[in-house]
Amino acid sequence: DPRLQGISDGIRVVPHFPKQGIMFNDITPLLLRPGVFKDAVDIFVERYRGMAIAAVAGIEARGFIFGPAIALAIGAKFIPLRKPKKLPVTAIPDICFYFYCTNVKGEVISETYVLEYGTDCLQMHVGAIEPGERVLIVDDLVATGGTLCAAIRLLGTPYILNLKCILNGTLDPL
Ligand code: 5GP
Repeated sequence: DPRLQGISDGIRVVPHFPKQGIMFNDITPLLLRPGVFKDAVDIFVERYRGMAIAAVAGIEARGFIFGPAIALAIGAKFIPLRKPKKLPVTAIPDICFYFYCTNVKGEVISETYVLEYGTDCLQMHVGAIEPGERVLIVDDLVATGGTLCAAIRLLGTPYILNLKCILNGTLDPL
């Protein structure tokens, strides 16, 4: 694809950022070239349009740059997967556990994952996705894949919660 060269040229490698020994791939030069930025979005739109994708989930923060543009172009909703304490939370009493697992919006679910040094966490609003919906996860870069795996687990959590409720009898599988 001839567009890939321009995209590659728009990514700047910054040695020793954010810490010594890391070669950081900086995508901000790409954003300054509207044609190249559009090419990057278009490539994903061409690949995923017509594939019945209900939602695009963007990983904070750079997944928020590309994800919404792709979501709008393919007619999908956008779900931000955020770092801790960024999403507003509404308190839900225990009695609503049934709904918590199905369709209440405003509560968050979390997925913690291991980084090279320490841990990080992604959060999503409960009810952002419905059972059976197909989700495209967007970020700017995959290194170890730890962040992406956490996003996949997080998106699967409502189904796991629902399954637990079905097994303990508090949710009717039908
Ligand atoms: P992973 O979890 O795959 O090791 O790291 C990927 C996550 O860290 C992504 O959210 C990505 O934005 C960020 N990241 C790690 N290294 C880089 C890098 O060199 N450049 C950019 N732009 N992001 C990075």
